[in-house]
Amino acid sequence: MSSQPTAILSVYDKTGLLDLARGLAAKGVRLLGSGGTAKMVREAGLEIGDVSDITKAPEMLGGRVKTLHPAVHGGILAQTGKESDRKDLEVQGIAPIDIVVCNLYPFEETIARDPAPTLAQAVEEVDIGGVTLLRAAAKNHERVWILSDPKDYAKFLEEYGSQGEKAQASRNLLALKAFSHTAKYDEAISDYFRKQYASVASSSAGVVQQFPLRYGANPHQKPAQAFVTEGEMPVKALAGSPGYINLLDGLNAWALVKELAQSTGLPAAASFKHVSPAGAAVAVPLSEVEAKAYFVDDLGELSPLATAYSRARGADRMSSFGDFIGLSHVCDAQTARIIGREVSDGVIAPGYEPEAFEILSKKKGGKYCVLQIDPAYEPSLVETRQVYGISMQQRRNDAVIDKSLFSNVVSAKKDIPESALLDLTVATLALKYTQSNSVCYALHGQVIGLGAGQQSRIHCTRLAGSKVDNWWLRQHPRTLSLPFKKGTKRPEKSNVIDLFVEGTVEGPLMKDTQERKEWEAYFDEVPAGLTEQEKLEHAKALTGVVCASDAFFPFPDNVHRAARSGTSYIAAPGGSVMDDACIQAADGHGIVVARTSLRLFHH
Ligand code: 5GP
Repeated sequence: MSSQPTAILSVYDKTGLLDLARGLAAKGVRLLGSGGTAKMVREAGLEIGDVSDITKAPEMLGGRVKTLHPAVHGGILAQTGKESDRKDLEVQGIAPIDIVVCNLYPFEETIARDPAPTLAQAVEEVDIGGVTLLRAAAKNHERVWILSDPKDYAKFLEEYGSQGEKAQASRNLLALKAFSHTAKYDEAISDYFRKQYASVASSSAGVVQQFPLRYGANPHQKPAQAFVTEGEMPVKALAGSPGYINLLDGLNAWALVKELAQSTGLPAAASFKHVSPAGAAVAVPLSEVEAKAYFVDDLGELSPLATAYSRARGADRMSSFGDFIGLSHVCDAQTARIIGREVSDGVIAPGYEPEAFEILSKKKGGKYCVLQIDPAYEPSLVETRQVYGISMQQRRNDAVIDKSLFSNVVSAKKDIPESALLDLTVATLALKYTQSNSVCYALHGQVIGLGAGQQSRIHCTRLAGSKVDNWWLRQHPRTLSLPFKKGTKRPEKSNVIDLFVEGTVEGPLMKDTQERKEWEAYFDEVPAGLTEQEKLEHAKALTGVVCASDAFFPFPDNVHRAARSGTSYIAAPGGSVMDDACIQAADGHGIVVARTSLRLFHH
């Protein structure tokens, strides 16, 4: 058996090859190359053997088999410190291989070509022997050097020949690089074949793992796709085609309604916009006033799911304009009819009754996005995303939120009735799927004000509180009887009501403006604005509201603000140096505080 060190060279990208070959030859290394690699080195006047010199088998199948042979892989994989391995090599007449230099066929570049390659051309770019060389050498990096990147050649030549920890540390990193190289290569190959064989458009065997998205977050962000690498895609588009944000909304909405239904035992619905809920609710029957304020008083008794969606949509009608809807249960015809008459982008549910699907599939001239999700689908525990080229991983937020989360009551007042426990569950679960920071108020099984994505907590509390005030004033008798002209559309009504309850239309800045005139034009008879006194009296009638926060309240101002919007129960994780001051503030208002010890940031 030869004691001369041996290197196998088999590279597609021949950058730096000749310098490396020269350097290796100068260090007394025997060179063996696959067809094209050996040819280039030889033509440069350097001495190099063919891999077939040791395999005693020619390259065959037009290059499909070049280095795949025990003489090569036995030589690479042998642990020469092991007696039995040395014996195996001796019996087979195989020399150990010390260095492998290999990079792969350009699969990614080939499939990106314009015009696109045929499937057969792409198949030919699937490197087999190279991947095997890389993997075998990387596996045996305790002894073998694996060079998969021309950028590493120069440093390698400096280090080669030295022994000990430094050399081992270099081999470790080179092995890691080779493993990553093959992983990335396999990812590109599987991505290509997923699109060929398991895409919505191409799947002939009925297995779908991928669908294209219209575009990414913005129309110029193309291409865009959604895919899974294992099992089947749990979501399918029954009508329309989702965009990237639709899917973000839809998946978050589904997670929320699924957990709401599991924790409360009631059908649930959510109305998402920009990856936060504008509303979310469970099926608590509507009062007459609520039905009127939510524009569903013409429908008589509602099904539980329709009730939940009416509440979810009624929380903040302006924000819900163009929403993506999540439904915990199979969509019935009544729920579909309510959705059908609202401006909405899409819906996700575990299924659709035939009549419901008929209604939804006609919406937006057939473009309304109707997604069906497998209710049994469980996402993996570890989730990965990439931001600015960097991958980040975390355990999925699988914290279970139900009424048991609110058992640690830290305020003077202790009693939380069942209805408030339900509302705390709704508010806290909504926060779990809301962009942080976030604060959520709830009542009657529904979100009534949600402040999402603010950098300061008091701004969340105020924003959400002002939404509560707005929601409550929309139920003022004078709001409910606004004399709209016949034919005023629902979204227009929502906008006009918003200006009415918010009061700006009455202010001096709006006087005699075009906007004021346009606002007046919606009425048969222009209504007088709500007076401060009317607003105050109405506000006093709102009690029993719950307020939950996705992280601790840093100052008592949040508690005082929450109290002004009818809050009787607060749930927050605690952990601030001001916890005691916040509890004292709550005690001053007679508010019950449950410490959840569970932070719920969501990004
Ligand atoms: P060469 O230009 O030397 O003929 O080929 C180099 C390329 O062949 C490298 O990209 C290497 O990954 C690949 N390769 C090495 N061994 C084999 C093999 O046995 N089969 C196939 N299909 N490719 C191989």
